[in-house]
Amino acid sequence: MRTLSELTFSNTYSELPSVFGTQIKPQPLTDPFLVSVNPKVCTLLELDLDEASTDYFVDLFTGNDELHGFSPIAMKYTGHQFGQYNPDLGDGRGLLMGEVLTSQGEKWDIHLKGSGTTPYSRQGDGRAVLRSSIREYLGSAAMHGLGIRTTHALAVLSSTTPVYREQVERGTTLIRVAESHLRFGHFEYLFYTNQHAELKLLADYLIRHHFPDLLQQESDSTPNRYAIMFHRIVSLTAEMIADWQSVGFAHGVMNTDNMSVLGLTFDYGPYGFLDDYNPGFICNHSDYSGRYAFNQQPSIALWNLSALGYALSPLIDKSLIDEALNTYQAQLQLHYSKRMRNKLGLTEKRDQDSDLYSEMFRLLANQGVDYTVFFRTLSTIPKEELASSIPHFEGLFSCTTTLSQWLQHYATRLELESINDQERLRQMQQSNPKYILRNYLAQQAIVLAEQGDFSMVDKLLLVLTDPYSEYPEYEDYAALPPQWGKELEVSCSS
Ligand code: AMP
Ligand code: MG
Ligand code: MG
Repeated sequence: MRTLSELTFSNTYSELPSVFGTQIKPQPLTDPFLVSVNPKVCTLLELDLDEASTDYFVDLFTGNDELHGFSPIAMKYTGHQFGQYNPDLGDGRGLLMGEVLTSQGEKWDIHLKGSGTTPYSRQGDGRAVLRSSIREYLGSAAMHGLGIRTTHALAVLSSTTPVYREQVERGTTLIRVAESHLRFGHFEYLFYTNQHAELKLLADYLIRHHFPDLLQQESDSTPNRYAIMFHRIVSLTAEMIADWQSVGFAHGVMNTDNMSVLGLTFDYGPYGFLDDYNPGFICNHSDYSGRYAFNQQPSIALWNLSALGYALSPLIDKSLIDEALNTYQAQLQLHYSKRMRNKLGLTEKRDQDSDLYSEMFRLLANQGVDYTVFFRTLSTIPKEELASSIPHFEGLFSCTTTLSQWLQHYATRLELESINDQERLRQMQQSNPKYILRNYLAQQAIVLAEQGDFSMVDKLLLVLTDPYSEYPEYEDYAALPPQWGKELEVSCSS
């Protein structure tokens, strides 16, 4: 484990031509302090956890000190927001501070979110507030804990700098860590501004750093490496969406500038995890048409991939772009059914299983059943007890007749499995989290944090880091949400 000054840097992005961004320093926050640090993310960076409690760490990431090796840059990108192209995007309140190299040769972007204005801030103040930073901090830890690819958050730092939203809030920064901050929108920017040589440069950059095996592949008989690169992005995106759908995660703002080319869950704004199963769930209060509703995510991701494919058209034959896009649906389905089979403890694939699934989803939707508690409960009931297991589901179903029928169907299906039943339950508990970041839990942690008490942020971080384990002292966090907790609204303004 290393101290900050012992980190090794490799600032490849800031070596790209100047059209890729603007070098600029973070603007200082006043009286900064640490809210929370994630030990798991320290480990990724091989950074000593004790560093985070030093004044230097706090000063460095709030624009009050400098580190030789950082090369801060605001990245330029554009993108489609709610279906409309917007040329005026970019890191408006964020900066890529530097890229850290680990002893294993992994490269991690260190990014600050909330670091002040940049040339891409438009009317914005370049700042972030405590509540939105805590939401991203916990949201990304929760996704990682669920085994879903995501950006990470090293720490949240706050201050007394006033930031004006509906009321005055605390200026806060999040230290985001990711393999890459490249978005679909980076390619769209270079395409729509007719900078096609730079577009190629960016594709080469992506391949060199993230798909290096493609450098070897070039013969007349193989599709060109940009086509394979796009194919990879389609696959990674399909897997990410399958993962989201299986855990009940709604992103909320799937604009192309919030889509990672590495299939990382990216930009946690008004996201939400399902409480009651509701396929049309809209987590973003400002999404009036439901464009980004939970059940729209698979088709929106494909729309976004098409937008990316179009932006890559100077580099790739149209037929190859279409070919890659045409693989999306099958890859999504394959990955999703694998995830769902794991959730139900089915090791083998059977054609008739689609009835079992559709019956189950109908049941959950019709009765508004809590998605997480339902699966976790199911993961605790031995096969021979399923027929008499209704009491286990207390508080989840208003009508238990259809539940009984489904449980019978499920028990019959389990007879076809050869796996030992204890082993099945063990595996199911590894696929069905006990803890999920419910909106109301995040909200409670935020209310306390705004009063200066960060203990609930740390407790939630702990359970979400491994949400499949039991934490007897935090049983409350696994309970069904109160009615008020299901009705909270979250919007983009943060
Ligand atoms: P988002 O909705 O978070 O994806 O952000 C969309 C665009 O608005 C991006 O270009 C952001 O950098 C920019 N942005 C968001 N909030 C602010 C802010 N407070 N100040 C400046 N730019 C912002
Ligand atoms: Mg964004
Ligand atoms: Mg955002």
